[in-house]
Amino acid sequence: MTVDAVDYKALPKIELHAHLSGSISRQCLHEVWLKKKENGETDLQDPLIKMPLGKHDYDLKTFFPLFSSYIYHLVSDIWALRHTTLSVLSDFAADGVVYLELRTTPRAMPQAGLTKAQYVATILSAITEFESDPNNTSQLKTKLILSIDRRNTLPEAYEVLALCRQFAGQGGVVGIDLCGDPARGPIDIFGPVFEEAKRTLPNLGITLHFAEAEASGTEEELLTLLSWRPDRIGHVIHLNEKIREEVKRRGGMGLELCLSCNVHAGMICGGFESHHFGEWWKVEETVVVLSTDDVGVFGSPLSNEYALVAKHFGLTRTDICSLVRRGVDVIFGGDEEKERLRGLMWSA
Ligand SMILES: [Zn+2]
Repeated sequence: MTVDAVDYKALPKIELHAHLSGSISRQCLHEVWLKKKENGETDLQDPLIKMPLGKHDYDLKTFFPLFSSYIYHLVSDIWALRHTTLSVLSDFAADGVVYLELRTTPRAMPQAGLTKAQYVATILSAITEFESDPNNTSQLKTKLILSIDRRNTLPEAYEVLALCRQFAGQGGVVGIDLCGDPARGPIDIFGPVFEEAKRTLPNLGITLHFAEAEASGTEEELLTLLSWRPDRIGHVIHLNEKIREEVKRRGGMGLELCLSCNVHAGMICGGFESHHFGEWWKVEETVVVLSTDDVGVFGSPLSNEYALVAKHFGLTRTDICSLVRRGVDVIFGGDEEKERLRGLMWSA
């Protein structure tokens, strides 16, 4: 099959699985580091040395410590949070993303006197600043998903839900997520939080990191996660036949698939051509949405993810256009936004 020439950057795209801290470019982290160094505020190594350009082979063992012991220490005040958020937004806009759901685990910054609520408010105000900038010619609209980390205690998880409630009304926060090191568990303690989210915030979307690693891919864990009635699930790697059928049976569930992340981190066996995108993209009962997860770490922008599936799975221009268009069905941003996006999408 020949692959039609498609300008993947110009193609209007939606990104539904991107972690804020993992989406910061190394150049931007370097800028933050330079400023802190000048002010005598950091002893950390230069990001361009710590994370050399071109290094993308972070696996599950090296990935999580990169955040807890490095990136979080660089992005540790209001200035850095605003600066990095604006940089992430302009990177997605420059790549042709027209709708972005950015996710983040609310983080207090004690040295800067910042509470978790102020952390969320700072990101939302950076989004507003970006969207109202008269020099910004992009079509990008951004919403926020707040994540519960698998390491969180139950009170911390309830705090995330409370923040969703606080900021959902203003239209900024549209979803809640479960993320974090898949080796950490068990996750069933969070059941009541997601149950309460579903019951009291019916417009809040639920997305869950799902079967990301073998440790988090047991049938018991996956049935528990499905019992929380997620609207979307992310990664979807280690599924047995029973779970696969259960996912299909739900009807219309969004699957956030992250090819480069999974290949570079060695989360799947083999290369791109053996990625489970090949197994899912034609399944009518589910909606596949290509996503980057952590473009700052894995280095593949969303435009490249589309180029990769075209190359490795032979998608035509028509296939690519209908893949993006179908993804609009599973955004958390509401019907008005869906209409705007359908107007922007290329017809095959
Ligand atoms: Zn993720």
